[in-house]
Parts: sequence; C-alpha cells; structure tokens
Amino acid sequence: MSELIHKSASDLAQLLASKEISSVEVTKAHLAQIDAVNEVVHSYLHVTADAAIAVAAEVDAKRAAGEKLHPLAGVPIAVKDNLTTTDAPTTAGSKILEGWIPQYDATVVRKIREAGLPILGKTNLDEFAMGSSTEFSAYGPSRNPWDLDRIPGGSGGGSSSAVAAYMAPLALGSDTGGSIRFPAFVTGTVGIKPTYGAVSRYGLIALASSLDQVGPVTRNVRDAALLQDLIAGHDPHDSTSLPESLGSMAEAAANGSLKGKRIGVIKQLSGDGFQPAVSKAFQHSLDLMTAAGAEIVEVSCPSFEYAIAAYYLILPAEASSNLAKFDSVRFGMRVAPEGNPTIERVMAATREAGFGPEVKRRIILGTYALSSGYYDAYYGSAQKVRTLIQRDFDAAFAKADVLVSPTAPATAFKFGEKVEDPLAMYLNDIATIPANLAGIPGISIPNGVADDGLPVGIQFLAPAREDARLYDVGAALEALHEAEWGKTMMSFAPDVHELIKKGVSR
Ligand code: GLN
Repeated sequence: MSELIHKSASDLAQLLASKEISSVEVTKAHLAQIDAVNEVVHSYLHVTADAAIAVAAEVDAKRAAGEKLHPLAGVPIAVKDNLTTTDAPTTAGSKILEGWIPQYDATVVRKIREAGLPILGKTNLDEFAMGSSTEFSAYGPSRNPWDLDRIPGGSGGGSSSAVAAYMAPLALGSDTGGSIRFPAFVTGTVGIKPTYGAVSRYGLIALASSLDQVGPVTRNVRDAALLQDLIAGHDPHDSTSLPESLGSMAEAAANGSLKGKRIGVIKQLSGDGFQPAVSKAFQHSLDLMTAAGAEIVEVSCPSFEYAIAAYYLILPAEASSNLAKFDSVRFGMRVAPEGNPTIERVMAATREAGFGPEVKRRIILGTYALSSGYYDAYYGSAQKVRTLIQRDFDAAFAKADVLVSPTAPATAFKFGEKVEDPLAMYLNDIATIPANLAGIPGISIPNGVADDGLPVGIQFLAPAREDARLYDVGAALEALHEAEWGKTMMSFAPDVHELIKKGVSR
C-alpha cells in the first residue's frame, strides 16, 4: 500500500507542485486502494480508472512543460453518482437510470475537469439521495470503514466512505437535508453544505430543488476550503446560483481563529435525545473554544421542533415533481407491461419496477401533500414553518457569529436497524435539516471518538453567504483537536484492510 493515499489533498498538491511526485503515481495509488477495498466497502458504483490515469498523465505533461496549473491539479477526486458525467454512467443509485450516460457534465464536474483533477469514479448513494444510510441504494449499501457492519451515513455514504477508507483524498457530495454532513459525522470526515446557490446545481439530479446543494467531503478543513473555492461561483445554467463571489475559503481556513468569536449553542439541539458520548464530546469542544478565547452564548430556535415535519412535506412535494420526468420515454429503463402496452401502462410498469420503496413512499407523500384540498393544509403550512425557522436563525445570528450543535444525535448504527422504520431514519437529520430549510451554510468536522469506538462530529452554521466563517472557526477547532490528540482524527480509525480480513457479519 502506498503512503501517498494517507496524505491530505493539500499535501499532495504541494508535492505535485514541487514535482516530488507525479499525478499518475498518486492516481494509481488510489486506484490500487480501490482495487483492494472497494469490493467490500462499496464506495464506488463505477470506477473510471483509464480516464483518471489519462487526465493524470496530461496534467503531469503540462506541469513538466511549465504550464500554470490550478493548485489542486493532479489531485484525484470521487464524484457522487447523482452528478452527471459524460464519460461514466450516472444512476443516482436507482435502477431506473441504470446504464444511463448523460449528454452533458454537471458544472461542478466541468470545473474539476478544467482544473485537472482526475476523476476516480462515481460514488454510491441512497436512491435519488433519499436516505441516511445508503441502504436505499438499488445497488446495495456502502460500509463504514470504522466498522464494516455499520452504515457510512447517507445519502452520500459512498463519498464519505471513499474518503475515510483512503480511496480518494477529496469527494463531492450533495446535501438536501444532511447528506454531506451526516455521512461526515459517522465516518470521521469533514463535510460542508455551502450557502444555497453558492455552488451550481446544474447537472445535479434534483431531489428537492429549493434545498439541494453540492459540497466538499474531505479529511480536513483546509482541503474542503480548496475544493469549495474550485467548485463555487456563478453559473448561468443555474438560475438560483448566486451572482457574487463569497471570497476565498482557503484564506479563511488558513487564518482560522476563535478569539473573540461569539459561538451560539442552539438550545433545541442539545441534551435529551443525544447519545451521552455525543454530548460529552460536544461539551468538551465548547470548553476548548472558550479556552481559546471564544464566547459561548445560548440561543433558542423554538421553531426547530417542526423542522423535520416541514422538511418531509416540502421535500416529497418537490421530489414528486422532479421525479415525474423518469417516465420510460426520456431516460433509462423501459419495462413492457402485461397486456396492452399503452403509454400509461408502460410508464406505470417502468416506475413500479424502477423505483425502490423509499422513492415510492416520498412520491406518494408529495403527490398527496400537493393535491387540491390538502395543498394549503400541508404544503402551505410547511412553507410557513420554513419562514419561522429562517426568523429563528436571524434572531440567533444577531447574538452569535456562528451557531454550533452536534451534527447528529448518535454514532453510526448497524445495517438493518432503521431501514424498516422511516421515522427513526428521518430523525438522524434533526440537526442538519434546519440549515437546508433556511438556505444557510453548515460544516461538520470530526469531534473525537465515542466510548463505542466510533467517530462523532460537531456542526457549525453561519448566516447565508458567510461560508468563510465556517472555515475560520472550523480550522481553528480542528487545530485545537489535533494539538490535544497529537494526531489527526482519521489516525484513530482502524486499518480497513485488517477489518476486511476479519470479515463482515452480514
Ligand atoms: N436523510 C435526508 C433525507 O433522506 C437527507 C437527504 C439528503 O440530504 N439528500 O431526505
């Protein structure tokens, strides 16, 4: 196993810039790790080895010729399989899109190609990003590299497990209600949902268009900053993309400081309902931040009580409309019905066979919530709650520069524990959903190891467009942790090769 896979993206970038290593070497090292562990961990649905090596060789040649390159040029990356790619299938974890090769690249994919990052492959997700565990992927779940019998979070468990198992130094995810941040929490990695509109959604297969946001998955805050700087920016193809730049995240991460920062602890997102080890690690980080000169204040967000209920009306409503285009005519699968093949019967047979249980549940929920007579009672009320949550945030940010909470209530659960109980699954997102409803940015960073040996994380939230604050305080807390532990969070993780040798119980 090559040592190169354990290096951070920023370290690799430096070694590449000084020509101590080549991109072909780095890319091949990650492909070797994929060969060794992906069969069990199952982070990647498709591996694009040849294309990745070709890009790496091209970047090496340009560097040798003295061309000016992007700082991350030559550093390989994994891409969640709900982002379109012209040279690889894009399934969104669904059978209905099996084998579909899009005609265009997502804007974020185009940007990483232009910057010269070799794409290693496409990562697993719950079908159409609906879920918290990858158990709803039509292609089978991904495993958590800390404990192979446990979930790697969802929906972006492919990206989080790829980064945590050293199958990629960087990955892209999408976060509609926590699908970047929850997987980061359970795998000891860093995940960021930028401000709504900061990163283009063009080519992201839409789940809920008013909530979706693409963002970075990495092993440290600085790497995430470099990646956000690369993928962010206005895109004429996405009418919700912000016109202005939010500044340099890398600069914010490099100057991280807690001195004088007002950190608001959200009363409703602590205490009861959180695993004691999660709360203990959270309290410890508050103490560390206080010692570093931050001021801890308490803020109250009473409407958060209704956040999950509002989310599970707004999301299914938007999803039922977004998923109507998978009709057997335009994309992917087509199934012959029994009897007379009218267009309606072909559509029905295709959607029956092509969609899994969670997708069907949400389409039915969303269609119901939008139906006449119920629209005002359900969708209308949910939109009002959304406004109340935004007001709670406005009031909280009047008292604090950033808000803080545990990212999720408990450490990674075992496969099968929640998959039959939708409400139990939905509750994982209690701390992450409010940010999507309000369009504000959030980061999850590692926060130590719980008494069960599994990682926990801490979440910071900032006002819209103030993503830099997350990198500022996030980098500062990360540095405090590493000073205390004498090593990085991922150094606590067991060796995934050893775990694979021992076998898995499922
Ligand atoms: N777990 C949440 C859901 O199932 C979040 C999904 C997401 O962010 N894509 O909706």
